[in-house]
Amino acid sequence: MSYRHLPLTCECGEVPDRILEVGLSDVHELVIHFWCAECRRSVCLTKPLTECWQECPPPETRQAAQVALVHTNSEADARFLRALGIRYPE
Ligand SMILES: [Zn+2]
Repeated sequence: MSYRHLPLTCECGEVPDRILEVGLSDVHELVIHFWCAECRRSVCLTKPLTECWQECPPPETRQAAQVALVHTNSEADARFLRALGIRYPE
């Protein structure tokens, strides 16, 4: 699985070192609840899920990751899988 890092900063500019909760709101937003050590208060950031969808990595990235994963399997792994009755497609 590939994923894109979401930069997370408080309005004061501090980068939180601890996320308290991640959730979904009733208006279709991703909600990230964290503690800001600088402001000494809990902060809630929201991001519309439509924006999240648009910012997801493209599918090609995911396919490339899967191909790379298959290619890292060694012959010993293949023998092990064959012993379990699992075969790679020719
Ligand atoms: Zn802050």
